[in-house]
Amino acid sequence: MTLRFAPNPFAPARRRTREVRVGEVGIGGSNPIRIQSMTNTDPCDAIATAAQIEVLARAGCEIVRVATPSVRDAETLGAIRSELHRHGVAVPLVADVHFVPRAAMIAAEHVEKVRINPGNYADKKRFEVVEYSEARYREELERVAERFRPLVRRCKELGRAMRIGTNHGSLSDRVMNRYGDTPLGMVESALEFLAVCEDEGFFDVVFSMKASNPQVTVHAYRLLAARLEERAPGEASYPIHLGVTEAGDGEEGRVKSAIGIGALLEDGIGDTIRVSLTEDPVKEVPVARALARRYDERRARRLPAQGPGAAFAIDPYRYSRRSTGSVGSVGGENAVRVEVDLGPVAEDVREAARGIADSLRRLGDLECEGLLVDAADAAEAKRAKAFANLLTEAGVDVPLAIRVPAALLPAVDAAAARVVVRIEAPLAADQLGEIGRVRCPLEWNFHLTGEPLLEALDQAIASGCDGRLASVEPDLPVHGARLLAARLRARSAERVPIVLRHRADPSLDGETALLRAASDLGAPLCDGIGDLVSLGGFGSLERNVYLAYRILQGARLRSSWTEFISCPSCGRTLFDLEKTTARVKERTAHLAGLKIAVMGCIVNGPGEMADADFGYVGSGPGKVSLYAGRECVIRNVAEDEAPDRLVELIRERGRWVDP
Ligand code: SF4
Repeated sequence: MTLRFAPNPFAPARRRTREVRVGEVGIGGSNPIRIQSMTNTDPCDAIATAAQIEVLARAGCEIVRVATPSVRDAETLGAIRSELHRHGVAVPLVADVHFVPRAAMIAAEHVEKVRINPGNYADKKRFEVVEYSEARYREELERVAERFRPLVRRCKELGRAMRIGTNHGSLSDRVMNRYGDTPLGMVESALEFLAVCEDEGFFDVVFSMKASNPQVTVHAYRLLAARLEERAPGEASYPIHLGVTEAGDGEEGRVKSAIGIGALLEDGIGDTIRVSLTEDPVKEVPVARALARRYDERRARRLPAQGPGAAFAIDPYRYSRRSTGSVGSVGGENAVRVEVDLGPVAEDVREAARGIADSLRRLGDLECEGLLVDAADAAEAKRAKAFANLLTEAGVDVPLAIRVPAALLPAVDAAAARVVVRIEAPLAADQLGEIGRVRCPLEWNFHLTGEPLLEALDQAIASGCDGRLASVEPDLPVHGARLLAARLRARSAERVPIVLRHRADPSLDGETALLRAASDLGAPLCDGIGDLVSLGGFGSLERNVYLAYRILQGARLRSSWTEFISCPSCGRTLFDLEKTTARVKERTAHLAGLKIAVMGCIVNGPGEMADADFGYVGSGPGKVSLYAGRECVIRNVAEDEAPDRLVELIRERGRWVDP
């Protein structure tokens, strides 16, 4: 498929969109990326909901969404609005409606925007397998359109905006049977609803395509952007709301969100974002702000475009890892490896080696598969060699890479398992000579961007590719990695494995640094680029290893823990989701490879947990239903007993291992 999903996948450029007004706040056009969150109070409790909206608005949330599951909840929106007026809070509101068209019609009277889910707006979702003839499909679509049209007309009359928000796993039976639970199904489902809006002359539409799996999220949004571009080439398109749904809590939720949202922002896709965390909603705001800030700043700096584009080296709509040769245990059929970047060796080399050997012993199940040290001059190269010898004496068998400028290659060649040569300008003849003489595995480590990167890479390729790896550390790491992959392919050197490198920027706060690492490494990984991730600057060796595996798990490439899919909670939630998720995690977090969903309600939970192996779903006040895949196997068990019953169920299905 060669649809165009991004203005330029090799350079920062935002998709051109029209502005959609949500009350006083504009989304898209020349506006900054807008920050959203959602309340999780009882929507019928106007005082509590207004109070939470006020807290969110004061924390910097620019648009607030409120779950509106029923007609009664929709009717309460007026009281919420009055309460906000009383407190001088003017933040625009969005009503989040599923299943009940009447609630959407009432909500439109009170709020600036209505979000509908095409998978359940006047449509069926019973997971039925039905053969749809063309005539029957059209008939059902027309029936849904008839029920949707009044809302479109009312929104147009009142000047309201609308979000057509598709979720993975939450497609109607009609769409699911034709397209499957796929990015294509998600996009087609949304476009069917857009056609009704356009027929009515209503264009104040924003789209979303959320999934809990960052890879699916990225592919669905890209496909949407490409299909919209195809429908109206060159025109300002509809704005897009980004989010990874049910991302979970803590670092897990932040990493997954940063991978999915960050990858799309790198594409220039995204005009407003919501980070869905299973935490107090106010904690979502600084995370969303930190993600958006980088791209708003980039736009203000007007960065030059990278060098000439090439054919994108990967399929942007489907995960497929670059096929490479292997260099040692990196690339080829090997899983993506984890390396820790230790920086330069400290003056007390003996102490440094002892510290690393101790840290490696403490690691437990997570394996550090490589170490990197830096040597910028002869003295540091000497220390790096001594460090390598001391690690060997201490019985450390983790391969050590040493990074040097070309002139120092002979000084470290024999000591390193791999030498990493820093390339900061197109190569001179003597540098090429030094590189050509290295016999151990060698990594070209480019600190270049645009044309100079391409020139130096071409020179390096011409000097021979056997036993070589490549990495790039420009200002724009995601675009740099893509450019590297594309040029390697264009020069028939696609078998060269790629190393993704990231060091924490010490000027950033801890949370922002974590989000940057997750985006910069996770975005190329979701593109199938990267055979080794090298992470440094996050404190201890253990911490760097842990984060690298967390990012690989977030990108769905290596599973070290149970994958939790937990909804952020909203007004429909039937228990304290944060505490419940913690209880479930306490019992099951060690089941690497297993996906467990913890969902707050039976209305959307079973659909949206998409590809989970087991589900823990609120089915009534104090009651939980347990699922194996899509099948509900234990109904309405008391909340206190539910974690034990879940463990029993996992055991019965042969998926349990003792911690
Ligand atoms: S699954 Fe969670 S976030 Fe989604 S509607 Fe239900 S309670 Fe709300």
